[in-house]
Amino acid sequence: MDKKLKFVITGHVDHGKSTLIGRLLFDTNSLPDGAMEEIRKTAEMLGRKTEFAHILDHLEEEREKGITIDTAQTFFKTKKREYVIIDAPGHKEFLKNMITGASQAEAAILMVDLNEGIMEQTKRHAYILTLLGIKQLIVAMNKMDLINYSQERFEQVKKELLAFLDSIKIKPTYLIPISAFLGENVAKKSDKIKFYSGPTILEALDTFEKTKSAEEKQLIFPVQDVYDVDGKKIAAGRIESGKVSAGENVIVLPENKAITVKTVEKFLENATSASAGESIGITADDFKFERGQVIAAKEDLPTVAKTFRANVFWMSPNILKKDENLILKVATQEIPCKIEKIERRINSSSLELIGENADRLENTEVGQVIISTEKPVVIENFNEVEEMGRFVLVKDMDISGGGIIIK
Ligand code: GDP
Repeated sequence: MDKKLKFVITGHVDHGKSTLIGRLLFDTNSLPDGAMEEIRKTAEMLGRKTEFAHILDHLEEEREKGITIDTAQTFFKTKKREYVIIDAPGHKEFLKNMITGASQAEAAILMVDLNEGIMEQTKRHAYILTLLGIKQLIVAMNKMDLINYSQERFEQVKKELLAFLDSIKIKPTYLIPISAFLGENVAKKSDKIKFYSGPTILEALDTFEKTKSAEEKQLIFPVQDVYDVDGKKIAAGRIESGKVSAGENVIVLPENKAITVKTVEKFLENATSASAGESIGITADDFKFERGQVIAAKEDLPTVAKTFRANVFWMSPNILKKDENLILKVATQEIPCKIEKIERRINSSSLELIGENADRLENTEVGQVIISTEKPVVIENFNEVEEMGRFVLVKDMDISGGGIIIK
């Protein structure tokens, strides 16, 4: 079975996110024993219909009681693989987690209530997905039952939505008419929605690709410290991606110097190689390691730059001003920097362009900016090597914003 695929469900409030999650869990038999029965009974007692949205409330209660499931990470599985629905989307925390890498979604479902149509958050969330570089997207056109399965209404909202998505340069992989509430086209093909013959939500998810794991990518090993042990100089740090072995020829950046790895050192362990996620040391003959260097594979070198373009989310009540001193953190590199130019200042709720060539970003605003650093920094496009393409900005000791590198 493939590794777990992480995705988020976003969309305007009440457009059916919780209902879809409840449905997915129910239809894939992922609920703890008896949970559904209990939800049904409670609903009956209160004289209301069983709501799939209540599944999440129920899980939340269980969690509070210290039992079973963590709702921040909800799991289910299909024949093909396991899935993790991450985070409670729509919140500011969602952005923060995505940017800082606490949770990285590989795909997204955008929910649109066909009855209500496209709303402010529909647009905002779609836009955020583009900023985060998410390419695998399902638009779930929800509540088909509420519009009497009308193809006309479906086509109308679809046209409007595609025009908007086109304007922000994102193309949904699938656009699926569903009823999350009744489970139409979620796990089972609907026989009520005759005009649609494409995949269900689960079938669509199963076609998505896992992004390469950190281990499968090129070697990136930022040097965090240099130790002198018995006259041996050891460059220590954590491997961000790829693998390294003794005897391998690698490149040290930003010097762009070729060296041969002499030994790979692990704590309390004899080793000749190591891979992503491991904290190790390496040695080489005749080379002076320094903190801040990045050791990379010969092929496919990351970029070394002092200026680059990025999308930044500002998440602090303290205003970000052009040209003020900040610290940029990319992987383990920490380098003084400033925002040299704010090309576009955007209101993340309305998506309205506040200004071009702006002098600041305020709380929750998004900017397309040019960042310049005091020293060369080793970076990559976010879409290529996520670990080197994501950064946070520190102002007055606080992580106040974050972003992704475009070029
Ligand atoms: P969220 O705020 O996006 O999580 O939305 P919920 O999942 O809480 O759904 C909001 C309301 O819409 C609830 O009363 C749901 O039962 C209802 N709802 C969600 N999906 C459907 C659907 O496909 N059909 C109908 N008729 N109602 C739905």
